[in-house]
Amino acid sequence: MIKALIVVDVQNDFCEGGSLAVVGGAGVASRLGKLLAVPHRYDHVVATRDHHIDPGSHFSDTPDFVDSWPVHCVAGTPGAELHAPLSEADFEAVFDKGEYAAAYSGFEGTCAGVGLGQWLAERGVDQVDVAGIATDYCVRATALDAVKAGLDVRVLLDLTAAVTPQRLDLVLDELADAGVALAGSGLA
Ligand SMILES: [Zn+2]
Repeated sequence: MIKALIVVDVQNDFCEGGSLAVVGGAGVASRLGKLLAVPHRYDHVVATRDHHIDPGSHFSDTPDFVDSWPVHCVAGTPGAELHAPLSEADFEAVFDKGEYAAAYSGFEGTCAGVGLGQWLAERGVDQVDVAGIATDYCVRATALDAVKAGLDVRVLLDLTAAVTPQRLDLVLDELADAGVALAGSGLA
């Protein structure tokens, strides 16, 4: 098995203090930092970023927090950067998505013109762990697309944070039904 970790959208705007803060986001960044600082089980470690330029109705002054959102993760701003202690240097590749339209799945992202799915396939990756923000949006969409790509997929629940914790059970049921394993990171 060749294993990869996909760290989804652990960016300043999605963490406490950001424009679209998800409770627990900074804690996810901290725990991922600990995971990556020691020898780990992954052959490849990559990240995705929401990276908006003009994403149309994805942004709204009156967001519904389902299909429209406050302005967030604008390319080139501090809000779009990975949250400390994570930085681009921690990742073999960073896949940006959402320049001109909403993009929830990391598989919509590209790094130097190569899509995440192609990048993983070129390296023979057959198992991925997905972590990051938010469990019920971009982690969900990325995990579902990973299953569609034929990968063995786990979501590391203790390394995720949800926008709407009240409906998390529904999302986790959907993921399990799709064949995603719900797991823990093993971090103490
Ligand atoms: Zn976005």
